[in-house]
Amino acid sequence: MTYGDGTRAVHAGLPAPEPGQPFLPGPVFAAPYHLDPETGPGRDGYGRPDNPTRRALEAAIGELEGGPALAFASGQAAITGLLLATLRAGDTVALPSDGYFTVRAFAEGALRDLGVRTVLVPTAGPYPAFDGVRLVLLETPANPGLDVCDIRAVAAAAHASGALVAVDNTTATPLGQRPLELGADVVVASGTKALTGHSDVLLGYVATGDEDLLARMTTWRAQTGGIPGAFDAWLAHRSLATLDLRLARQSANADAVARLLADRTDVTGLRWPGLPGDPSYALARAQMRRIPGVVSFDLGGAERVARFLAASRLVFAATSFGGVHTSADRRAQWGDDTAPGFVRLSCGIEDTADLLADLTDALDAA
Ligand SMILES: *Cc1c(COP(=O)(O)O)cnc(C)c1O
Repeated sequence: MTYGDGTRAVHAGLPAPEPGQPFLPGPVFAAPYHLDPETGPGRDGYGRPDNPTRRALEAAIGELEGGPALAFASGQAAITGLLLATLRAGDTVALPSDGYFTVRAFAEGALRDLGVRTVLVPTAGPYPAFDGVRLVLLETPANPGLDVCDIRAVAAAAHASGALVAVDNTTATPLGQRPLELGADVVVASGTKALTGHSDVLLGYVATGDEDLLARMTTWRAQTGGIPGAFDAWLAHRSLATLDLRLARQSANADAVARLLADRTDVTGLRWPGLPGDPSYALARAQMRRIPGVVSFDLGGAERVARFLAASRLVFAATSFGGVHTSADRRAQWGDDTAPGFVRLSCGIEDTADLLADLTDALDAA
């Protein structure tokens, strides 16, 4: 029996029912655990290599992604861990030129200093030949521009050249897209965004069916220590139960918001992969199981964005995305390479009519 997304999200990673026990066991706070003086450490001896709360979360994420998962302290801990555990001096890595900019900054700093070469490729392509490339990291939909790439096609080309293929699944979440089924070797993601969705946890993960890579990442994490704490792991697991519901409302809100913005002459550069006519529309429809609640557009300048945000009562000025509260981020304020008036709007789970009314008023006022 294959269950639907709502059922899978609610039951992901839960232990078998046991009378007198909670559905989701509470966080286990332990650095060292009691040891058996005769047999020594079992699975739980010290909290850096393993923890039962984290294991339950990893079981949940692993079920949703379709491959064993390892949780990290943040998305960056997971991504930089994957890069450093797989790349050696003299290697080349292909990264999206329009993806999460801290990954590019890491490649152009720390990785370059280690002798790793980077090729930047726009998510929408064209993709170069991958000869001599060790690792291809895709980010689809890319944050913040929302271009989409064909995971199956790029993975086939990369594999033909012997490269490993990783997909950053942050924006889509495992309910929106299953990169491992589409041919990727490994998924990396930030769980800080829509996966946990309450803007109160930093989290990252790696998921892979490649046993060697999983073993290498397990050793990497145990030795470098970038683990989430037990309480954060528990909060994340608790939040997963509503993932299907949250994504459904976020996506419906984004659909309505994108249509509203498409009709306005004072908004340019509108992107939402679910909008017919969007450059990503056909590919997103074919590849994705649902479209994320993130919309991007340009309001022409920093001052107009500021007036829009000041006038809105429902849109929080904040970075990050995928949360239950609608928020908007003028990305250029963080020093990335977007235009000064570029906005990434993350639709929350408010009532659609309220959101549309608020956005209309705020844009009119701006
Ligand atoms: C936020 C984000 C990251 C980094 O995740 P953190 O949890 O903030 O470390 C990586 N990739 C993408 C696509 C992101 O949006």
